[in-house]
Amino acid sequence: MAKRRKRPKKKKSFGIFKALLLVLVLAAVNIGLVSAIMQHRTGDSGVSLDGEKRGNAAYAASRPELDVQLLTPNPNSRPQIPLRRLNGIVIHYTANPGSSAMQNRNYFEGLKDGGTKASSHFIIGIDGEIVQCIPSSEIAYASNSRNDDTLSIECCHPDKSGKFSEETYDSLVELTAWLCRYFDISPDEVIRHYDVTGKLCPKYYVENEDAWEDLLADIKEAYDAM
Ligand SMILES: [Zn+2]
Repeated sequence: MAKRRKRPKKKKSFGIFKALLLVLVLAAVNIGLVSAIMQHRTGDSGVSLDGEKRGNAAYAASRPELDVQLLTPNPNSRPQIPLRRLNGIVIHYTANPGSSAMQNRNYFEGLKDGGTKASSHFIIGIDGEIVQCIPSSEIAYASNSRNDDTLSIECCHPDKSGKFSEETYDSLVELTAWLCRYFDISPDEVIRHYDVTGKLCPKYYVENEDAWEDLLADIKEAYDAM
């Protein structure tokens, strides 16, 4: 009797040890799983929201650094209308000298409380920082008749001329070239807001055709190098 009682006791303590080990292993697996999901989520909230469906995975890792600050869904700046076709990229300027990317992003965010319809997928700041406001799978209110088949990039500028800072320019070239690669858009489909509506946007690159041609050439060069 005593022998029989002893044995299960031994077994029980071994069982507790095994259970503890199992808990530790499960916890480790769980941490790995959660971090994997979090990483996936981070990607999901950015440009690769539908990247696995539409983007070229070969370029996923070379994505430029994005500060993903998505707008709250609302009828004026983020209507969550699916962007079903993607045929081009439209370049804009903010027409608000000296303002930062986040200030412009927050202006779009504020439109949820009323006002005009306006937004952009990306905003590039004077220091070259890139803020993403709208997922690439949704339309932005930026480019009029081309809202439903293009991605939009707003560029900040230091003064009234509308000329981009070197940092803004470099980020614009990098982001545009990468978006062309990732979404399989020809660099020939990179256009100005001006080319859609005749609006003076982006001002400096409408008034200076040579500067626009140089910008396109730089985008193509970056595209070819990717
Ligand atoms: Zn514009």
